[in-house]
Amino acid sequence: MTEKLYHNMPTVETCISKVLACRKTESAYEALLDKTVIFPESGGQLSDRGFLNDAAVLHAREENGLVWHETTAPFEVGAEVAVRLDVEARRDHSAQHTGEHILSGTANTLFGAVNVGFHMAEDYVTIDLDTYLDEAQITELERAANRAVQENLPVTVRIVDEQALEHIPLRKQAKGLTGEIRIVEVGAADSCTCCGTHTAASGEVGFIKITAAAKYKGGTRLWFACGMRAAEASRREHELLDALARRFSTRPEDVFEAVKKQGDDNAALRAELKKRTETLFSMQAETLLKNAKTAGSVKLALYTGQGFSMQELRTLSEKLTLGGNTAAALLSVNGESILYLFARGANVRFSMKQACEAANALFGGKGGGRDDGAQGSAPLMGESAFLQAAAQLEDYLLRALKT
Ligand SMILES: [Zn+2]
Repeated sequence: MTEKLYHNMPTVETCISKVLACRKTESAYEALLDKTVIFPESGGQLSDRGFLNDAAVLHAREENGLVWHETTAPFEVGAEVAVRLDVEARRDHSAQHTGEHILSGTANTLFGAVNVGFHMAEDYVTIDLDTYLDEAQITELERAANRAVQENLPVTVRIVDEQALEHIPLRKQAKGLTGEIRIVEVGAADSCTCCGTHTAASGEVGFIKITAAAKYKGGTRLWFACGMRAAEASRREHELLDALARRFSTRPEDVFEAVKKQGDDNAALRAELKKRTETLFSMQAETLLKNAKTAGSVKLALYTGQGFSMQELRTLSEKLTLGGNTAAALLSVNGESILYLFARGANVRFSMKQACEAANALFGGKGGGRDDGAQGSAPLMGESAFLQAAAQLEDYLLRALKT
């Protein structure tokens, strides 16, 4: 067994220990000590970090009462080592963990919600409650939890046996525990069995900030931050809000209205743009129809230009083919491609798929479709080659449409 000084003397930061075993792992070494101040990962709480002499302890784990320390250097069995705790990391983990007690105990008192899950990572902490809490209840919970922080309640640990345990009112009744059982109480805010590390009083938690909430398995998952993490989260949010306010040349409290107004303005502009584009296409179609060449009983409206997307070519073709006797051949240079689209009115018999195949051959492109409409694209070519290929396509279509 390893003597767990982090339980019996939680404020002790160093000790001299004897190495009971040491073995190589895939990426480092693992040393087993007769006693330690380094808390191993368990119960949802992160492992402490620290040092064995000058070698870093990256992680610790417990196995059958033995605490193994993952470390960067090997140690001789029987050697004495100075064990030193990374106090900053311990302070952070203990603040998050004690904050979790306060939030869980308070949620239980206020709403009868039971904590059914806890997870701590280096950059976030979550608890899962079995009860759904709405926004107002979450605000009430955060306020009440911070009131418990402000009251600087003592955090006490007592060891009891299973008989005594039956008579102690706990937030969460622990079942199946035997031997020495640790009860942790945060004043009247919380009381439960726990093996983690805690602050000495609730005031050391500093500030509890619920950063997010989501429905989870019929209850609520809460993300929160305590102490320096909460201060950092508030600072980041303030900086973001400040940057937004500067971007909109307004005060932080008016940012929401400014964003909403920009959204409304954009919607109005999009509607106006759509209306004007419709007018532009109608005028363009009118000009193309006026200049269309005749092939028997059919007219060929040919467009060669640039900047139109395939969707815009389609809109233009719909206007051109309304009359029934027109075939539309539309070519647009768009970025690094040449786009082409063919459409026909109801009285035109020549296949647009065939027209597209002719364009594929002339422009070196790919495309296809159906008899009543087809489209394709080709890589960009020089302007004179493009105009020459377009003229050849026009000749071909005027002949083909006569048949
Ligand atoms: Zn605890």
